[in-house]
Amino acid sequence: MELTRRGFLKLSGASTAGFLLFKGVGWKKVLGFSPIPLRKDLVNETYTICCYCAVGCGALVVTEAGNIVNIEGNPDHPINEGTLCSKGQALSQFRTVDGKDNPRRLTKPLYRAPGATEWEEVDWDWAIDQVAKKIKKTRDENWLSTVDVGGTTYPVNRTDAIAEFGGGELDNEECYLLVKLARALGMVYVEHCARI
Ligand code: SF4
Repeated sequence: MELTRRGFLKLSGASTAGFLLFKGVGWKKVLGFSPIPLRKDLVNETYTICCYCAVGCGALVVTEAGNIVNIEGNPDHPINEGTLCSKGQALSQFRTVDGKDNPRRLTKPLYRAPGATEWEEVDWDWAIDQVAKKIKKTRDENWLSTVDVGGTTYPVNRTDAIAEFGGGELDNEECYLLVKLARALGMVYVEHCARI
């Protein structure tokens, strides 16, 4: 079939509109109802917030027997109203790729000893113990109870020697808990890749 330039543009427009209607905007938003009701006896639907950037889009996660079978934008969310960008649409790949467990997903901590070139898998208890010991030592050795500003002493109770840096794979609730922990330890340098 020969396709003229005008025909090609029409076809592209129609395809894009169809795709957006189906994938991005969501049937419920467009039609006011969902034509294919979820079989809630078979699957669970959970609300979450995309953690990839600071926009904070809402998403619906559908799981079957504990496995993610679909993630799409939440049409009732005031920020994204059912849409998700390409990164948000890949949210399920934290766990699965093409319906199978993502083989690149880390499930154990990795440790690279000083001077070593290779990472090795280590036990969770050992890793948590090491992190706790290093935080305690650094905090104790670098604790600031007060600072002097212009001849006046102010209590600050903080450490400037440790910083916390969150990543895009942490979800909203995990970030909340991590910031609580950082503040309780007296850290002031708390950052996240979504904010940079
Ligand atoms: S990465 Fe995309 S989907 Fe996720 S919060 Fe940002 S804009 Fe929304």
